[in-house]
Amino acid sequence: MGIEAENKTIAINGEAISPGQNSLVRIGISRLPTGTLIDIPVHVFNGKKAGPTVLVQAGLHGDEINGVETLRRMLQENVFNIKKGAVIVVPILNIFGFIHFSRDVPDGKDVNRSFPGTRTGSLASRIAHTYTSEILPQVDFGIDLHTGGSQRHNFPQIRYSKEDDRSKELAETFDAPFYFASRLIRGSFRKTTLKMGIPTIVFEAGESMRFDEQSIQEGAEGIQNVLTALGMMTKKRTSKQKASVHLEYTRWVRAPRAGMFVPEVQNGEQVAKGQILGLVTDTYAKKNKKVKAPFEGYVFCINNQAVVNQGDALFHIGSKNAK
Ligand SMILES: [Zn+2]
Repeated sequence: MGIEAENKTIAINGEAISPGQNSLVRIGISRLPTGTLIDIPVHVFNGKKAGPTVLVQAGLHGDEINGVETLRRMLQENVFNIKKGAVIVVPILNIFGFIHFSRDVPDGKDVNRSFPGTRTGSLASRIAHTYTSEILPQVDFGIDLHTGGSQRHNFPQIRYSKEDDRSKELAETFDAPFYFASRLIRGSFRKTTLKMGIPTIVFEAGESMRFDEQSIQEGAEGIQNVLTALGMMTKKRTSKQKASVHLEYTRWVRAPRAGMFVPEVQNGEQVAKGQILGLVTDTYAKKNKKVKAPFEGYVFCINNQAVVNQGDALFHIGSKNAK
């Protein structure tokens, strides 16, 4: 056996974490009006042997808590005691949003539209800047955990950047039920990591402010799949039933009228062209409109809102075939 190289030292917030060391670093961000310091807890697991550094984060949107719970469980179960390379785990990036049950920081700005950020900008911009300068330069791969918005339930899915083949490979490795390319949004974490040459995937599962067991488990499985593929660990659990479905084309199906919305399919279900996905009815039992699948494919997001307006997004559906 040859002598394997030692891993690099990770430096965050002035603290050096040597190969073979684990540490919880707190990056001070700002204070609440009452003077309470708000910091971002960053768990660093630095393996002895040389290997890639993977960033796994959740709570960039403070109300998207499935990812927070996924990482909490994985930390509790000591999943990140890796053989080589390093894992940087940030369970809650947007602490301000998390304590306010909000996607955003208190001034209403979205941290995931504020990257790479500036030192003297708004609170969201400062958080992004601290993160971009302190953590990202040391990262080789990124996994960003999200959920759908309020009442919108995303069936576990991975989004990658079509500009970056390595992010597509990462998406395949994660092995969520669905994966597809999604466009890069200005100011997003994913756009900044792409510019910095860090392949990054976004895992979207469940809805905000509500735990979803399947989403939490798929998240934990997927992260372990990636770390295992990178040779950093050996995955303990395997419970995979179906191969990940790649969606070439996706679109929203919207409410044809206002009314009460009753879905007739399950999230994740395969549907035929013209199949009834749900009904939108008036409240007087006089009129109802069927919502039909515009093409053969899979439903991967359902809006659980009971009362809808015309044009509201009801189902996100995707096809294996390009349009
Ligand atoms: Zn999000």
